[in-house]
Amino acid sequence: MIPYGRQSINQLDMDAVLEVLQSDFLTQGPKVPAFEKRVAEYTGSKFGIAVNSATSALHIACLSLGLKKGDLAWTTPNTFVASANCILYCGADIDFVDVDERTYNMCPDMLERKLESAQKLGRLPDVVIPVHFAGQSCDMKRIWQLSQKFGFKIIEDASHAIGGSYLDDKVGSCKYSNITVFSFHPVKIITTAEGGLATTNDESLAHKMALFRSHGVTRDPSLMSHEVEGDWYYEQIELGLNYRMTEIQGALGLSQMDKLTDFIEKRHSHRQRYDELLNGMPLVTPFQSSLCHSSLHLYPIRLKLSDISKSRSEVFKYLKDKGVGVNVHYIPVHTQPYYQKMGFKKGMFPESERYYDSAISLPLYQDITDDNLQYVCKVLKEGLV
Ligand SMILES: *Cc1c(COP(=O)(O)O)cnc(C)c1O
Repeated sequence: MIPYGRQSINQLDMDAVLEVLQSDFLTQGPKVPAFEKRVAEYTGSKFGIAVNSATSALHIACLSLGLKKGDLAWTTPNTFVASANCILYCGADIDFVDVDERTYNMCPDMLERKLESAQKLGRLPDVVIPVHFAGQSCDMKRIWQLSQKFGFKIIEDASHAIGGSYLDDKVGSCKYSNITVFSFHPVKIITTAEGGLATTNDESLAHKMALFRSHGVTRDPSLMSHEVEGDWYYEQIELGLNYRMTEIQGALGLSQMDKLTDFIEKRHSHRQRYDELLNGMPLVTPFQSSLCHSSLHLYPIRLKLSDISKSRSEVFKYLKDKGVGVNVHYIPVHTQPYYQKMGFKKGMFPESERYYDSAISLPLYQDITDDNLQYVCKVLKEGLV
């Protein structure tokens, strides 16, 4: 089976991991801070906070922005459930903004209209979480301008988007947001097995996220209520968690960062090949916005269902039966049973639902071969008739 996504691990990654295993520190050593520095420098942001997953990073990002019961946050339905769940972890209320029909990202026009009516109702969001779907950045400048007008904070869910850029900056620069979150799950662009990282330019948010990552415990005397009693002394000043990244993961992340530029180039050459091979078939290939350079986490096509006699599930099954590991991104979050129980209904975010009904993500990863790409397209062509 050709998988839809797969990590690239070479001898250098293995050597980096082995070195940590033979060292003094398996956790809380030098590798994680070095990885944080590396990602912050790469993205052009001031601080990086590494954690054990992007889900954890989203959670501490919300906590550090003070999101709490009675507050409200918005995200997009076209995302993995984690982008929405982080809001619920904080006890806040959630709503969604539908997507643009070309990029499948949060639509800034719909966001603006929703903000205007929310203002009339007196219930503006405290936080908005745009998701850079498939590795292509949302239109952050417009979203940021709206945040200035309507007074909300922004967390970019860039789980798909390390290595991508928007206008003149790398995704993660936080030029148009408070915090950006990356995922290093093996299907994403670079991997630490499990792992995530938040970037920010705000020192106070960085300190808060570091506290929430590690039990809410500090050793900084300036933050303490009592005098330091000795070298052992620490104080718990927040209710934190244990979301720490291990040294093994930090070392793997550092080694993967060396290859990021190469990974993105490879993904773009695969995308170009797909675009060529799929030309003329009854489907829509992924739109590439001129505002961005995508990291191309995914290659989601949309079937032109009115031009073919088969359904999306039949085409999907045909591909799977022929050894092509396709996937679908995403089942709109508001249609999940958990969210339906909260009162969300099918039909509320029609663009996300229409997109979902015809979407298939084709296999895309650094090391996919040209033979594989040709095979996927050949099987797809057969499957569409
Ligand atoms: C993968 C993903 C997450 C969660 O990442 P983990 O590191 O697996 O916790 C969150 N948001 C989006 C959009 C994702 O694709």
